[in-house]
Amino acid sequence: TKKRDGKNGALLYDPLFQDTTRQRAEIEQDIEEALRSDWFEAYFQPIIDLGDGHVTGYEALMRLNHPLKGLLPPCDIIRIAEETGAIGRIGNRVFEKALANLVALTRASGDDRAYLAVNFSPLQLEPALPMLLTALTARHGIDPQRLVIEITEATLLHDNPQIRMVLDEFSRIGCRIALDDFGTGYSSLSYLSRFPVDIVKIDQSFIRSLASGEAELRNKSRMLVEGITAISHKMECSVTAEGVETTEQRDLLREFGVDCGQGYLFARPQPVEQLIAAYDIKRKVTSVA
Ligand code: C2E
Ligand code: MG
Ligand code: MG
Ligand code: MG
Repeated sequence: TKKRDGKNGALLYDPLFQDTTRQRAEIEQDIEEALRSDWFEAYFQPIIDLGDGHVTGYEALMRLNHPLKGLLPPCDIIRIAEETGAIGRIGNRVFEKALANLVALTRASGDDRAYLAVNFSPLQLEPALPMLLTALTARHGIDPQRLVIEITEATLLHDNPQIRMVLDEFSRIGCRIALDDFGTGYSSLSYLSRFPVDIVKIDQSFIRSLASGEAELRNKSRMLVEGITAISHKMECSVTAEGVETTEQRDLLREFGVDCGQGYLFARPQPVEQLIAAYDIKRKVTSVA
């Protein structure tokens, strides 16, 4: 029809549409250049035991450190890299950086038990991945039991047999599996019984509404977090809360029995050199005291 033609015509010449294709092409270029020039980094964010406050692990979060544009956050990069297929190469690069960071951090902190959590998108979970992880951890002298593989519910949505095989293989070599952004997907609870999940990470949207906004929503969020925690524990999963920003949230999470917390209240994602410097200062202070 005429209307549809008109709409299509408008879409073709829509300056916004052109802009997004240009932005997209620019990000694709940035990705290729970043791989060539080694601009990808693995920032680390500590994950804290809510019981005693010690660092139980670190989540590696990818950053593209562009010399002119500065730090580019992962969301656009990952979405586009998944479409172009570059995600595998980026993931391997970030994983190698994260392992090297963990070695340096272990030396500085003296803590060889803190785990390393790494995000993997569904396309990265190829049959060859467990072998690659085994080889890379061995090369860096890291026990695979210190690895946590973070996946989202989207990864489990279609119950792909290849993905199941890869996850089972991870479990076999001693890596733990964390279900990220828990509660935002379609049938969250059933995944706990159907896949080898060890850690449930409650999405930050639930944490945000624990202590702000309307009273009714607040109460419902509290019941959800408490309930998810109880069910996860029954399924022998430990629970981490994402996006903890206030002491009020932290205290509620403790009350609900949540095991660990991650968020700006404790620490931001940062270059590993910063974390190492903090451990060095702490050591100097305690050796003086
Ligand atoms: P995620 O795995 O759920 O990571 C948590 C996100 O929450 C991170 O965003 C982190 O910076 C942010 N965050 C942490 N604490 C707080 C807080 O207190 N408040 C708020 N508002 N945000 C907080 P980031 O670094 O932008 O990463 C976004 C997503 O990109 C990640 O979500 C993950 O899904 C993905 N991602 C990051 N690195 C990688 C990677 O190396 N590979 C893959 N496949 N995905 C990655
Ligand atoms: Mg994650
Ligand atoms: Mg998350
Ligand atoms: Mg998230």
